[in-house]
Amino acid sequence: TPDLPTQAGERAHVMVTIPLQNLTSGLGTALLGDTGTLSAAEARIHACDCKLIPAVLDSASAPLDLGRARRLIPTNLRNALYLRDRGCAFPGCHRPPRHCQGHHIRHWADGGPTDLHNLALMCAHHHRLLHRSGWEVRIAADGLPEFLPPVWLDKRRQPRRNNLHQPIPTAA
Ligand SMILES: [Zn+2]
Ligand SMILES: [Zn+2]
Repeated sequence: TPDLPTQAGERAHVMVTIPLQNLTSGLGTALLGDTGTLSAAEARIHACDCKLIPAVLDSASAPLDLGRARRLIPTNLRNALYLRDRGCAFPGCHRPPRHCQGHHIRHWADGGPTDLHNLALMCAHHHRLLHRSGWEVRIAADGLPEFLPPVWLDKRRQPRRNNLHQPIPTAA
């Protein structure tokens, strides 16, 4: 719906069932509604920035415990992320915040916190690339994200930044 005050609006709702072990390892498969399967690695990409209703099922798929819906990246944190990265943080990418999603640098399923120091704003294309290639992102000492290229691209893995997004103009 367009009701949410965030730029990207409410995300699509999808029910994914996945063994906890597959979610944390990124190996194996996850069930997508009643339509089929997707890889656990793909489920992790979507789970980076999602609204989560945790449910624990028994071996016969009967819900044992159903949690409350929780948006993993709350609105105020999302706004802070928009202000800091101002678009996809990947080097050379022009995409604006409304085309972006939050990437957990250390995935929340692995115990990574949902705070500014563990998040980077990424467009869908670069978010996928980051999950599937040798690129790595980290937050540098100045609090801004920087990207380490894979070894095959740069043997020394010199960090790179995106310098394309203009700073937010300050009011005169
Ligand atoms: Zn991610
Ligand atoms: Zn991008």
